[in-house]
Amino acid sequence: TIDRVSTRFPVVPAKVGRVPAGISRRRSRIVVTGGAGFVGSHLVDKLIKRGDDVIVIDNFFTGRKENLVHHFGNPRFELIRHDVVEPILLEVDQIYHLACPASPVHYKYNPVKTIKTNVMGTLNMLGLAKRIGARFLLTSTSEVYGDPLEHPQKETYWGNVNPIGERSCYDEGKRTAETLAMDYHRGAGVEVRIARIFNTYGPRMCLDDGRVVSNFVAQAIRKQPLTVYGDGKQTRSFQYVSDLVDGLYALMESEHVGPFNLGNPGEFTMLELAEVVKETIDSSATIEFRPNTADDPHMRKPDISKAKELLNWEPKVSLREGLPLMVSDFQNRILNEDEGKGV
Ligand code: NAD
Ligand code: UDP
Ligand code: UDP
Repeated sequence: TIDRVSTRFPVVPAKVGRVPAGISRRRSRIVVTGGAGFVGSHLVDKLIKRGDDVIVIDNFFTGRKENLVHHFGNPRFELIRHDVVEPILLEVDQIYHLACPASPVHYKYNPVKTIKTNVMGTLNMLGLAKRIGARFLLTSTSEVYGDPLEHPQKETYWGNVNPIGERSCYDEGKRTAETLAMDYHRGAGVEVRIARIFNTYGPRMCLDDGRVVSNFVAQAIRKQPLTVYGDGKQTRSFQYVSDLVDGLYALMESEHVGPFNLGNPGEFTMLELAEVVKETIDSSATIEFRPNTADDPHMRKPDISKAKELLNWEPKVSLREGLPLMVSDFQNRILNEDEGKGV
C-alpha cells in the first residue's frame, strides 16, 4: 500500500529525541512555498502561533505582502521573493509546498508557466527535501478527479481528466506533481504527504480571482448582479480556510502519506450558493446567467472518511457560518479600492 511512511531513511528521531535538561527543545524550521497567497498566509499564521520558524518562498504572482505584513519584524519569520521553478538551497525540517496559482483565471493566464510551476517547482522542492531530509507536503487538488464519474469522490478514484484541455495545465500538472512526490517517496525515501484540497474560501482570497465564492461576495458588496455560469446546477463543496489549515497541519504531523481528501462534504449548486450569499450580504441582490467555461466539472463532493479515520480531522465550519467571516475583509478591501480610485 502507498499509505505508509518509508522506513529506509528515518528523519524524525533526531528531531524529537530527548533534550538534555536546561536546553529547550529545538523549534521546527518550516518552509511554506506560496505562503503569501490565500491558504499559505493562513497556514503561516498557525505555524508562527505554534512557535515555529517560518520561511515563506513566493514570487508574488497571486500572493500579496499585505497577507503577511503582520509578521514583518518577527525574527522567527522570513519572506523570500523566489520562483520555485528555480532551484534553491535552504536548511529546514518541513516543506509545505503550496506555490501554484489556484483559480482558473490565474492558472489559465500563462498555462505553460502553470505547468512549469507544478512540475519543475515540485521537482525542486522534492530535490530540496531529499537533500536535507525534510518532510514534504504537497497541496494537490480535487481537480485531479476531473469531471468525476464517481460521486462523491474517494481517494481511490483515478479521475476523468482531459489531458489537452484549458484546465490541463493545472489538473494534469497536479497529477504529475503527485507522481513526482510518490516517486521521491518510493525511490529516495522522502517523507511525503499529499493533500487533495476541495474548493476553499475565506478572508484574503483575491478580489479579482474569478472563483465563485470571491466573485459572488464581491459582487453582492458592490451591488452588482451575481454571475452564475451555465445553468447554475453544477455542484461544489465549500470548505472554510481554517478547517483546511487544521487538516494540512494534521496531515503533516501524521505518519500517513495519503493522498487525503481535505474538503467540506456539504454540497451546493451554484444557484444555492447564490442564495446563501444573498441571505448573508444583500437579500435584494440579483442573478445574471453567463455561458459556462470549457470542461467545467458537473459535480464535486469529497468523501472524507479516510481523513476522519486516520487524521482524526473533519471540517467544523458550515458554509452559512463561514461566509459571514469573510465579508468584513472583502468590504474593507473593496472600500480601499474605491477610495484609491477616488470614488
Ligand atoms: P493563491 O493563488 O492565493 O496562492 C498561491 C501562491 O503561490 C501565491 O502567493 C503565488 O504568488 C504563489 N506562486 C505561484 N506560482 C509560484 C511560483 N512559480 N513560485 C513561487 N510562488 C508562486 O492560491 P491558494 O488558494 O492559496 O492555493 C494554495 C495551494 O492550494 C495551491 O497549490 C492550490 O493549487 C491548492 N489548492 C487550493 C484550493 C482552493 O480552493 N483554494 C483548492 C485546491 C487546491
Ligand atoms: N534542488 C534544489 N535544492 C536542493 C536540492 C535540489 O532546488 O537543495 C533541485 C535541483 O536543482 C534539481 C531538483 O531539485 O533540479 C531535483 O533534485 P535531485 O537531486 O532529486 O535531482 P538531480 O539534481 O539529481 O537531477
Ligand atoms: N462559477 C459561477 N460564477 C462565477 C464563477 C464561477 O457560476 O462568477 C462557477 C464555475 O462555472 C464552476 C463553479 O462556479 O462551476 C466553481 O468555480 P471556481 O472557479 O470557483 O472553482 P473550480 O471550477 O476550480 O471548482
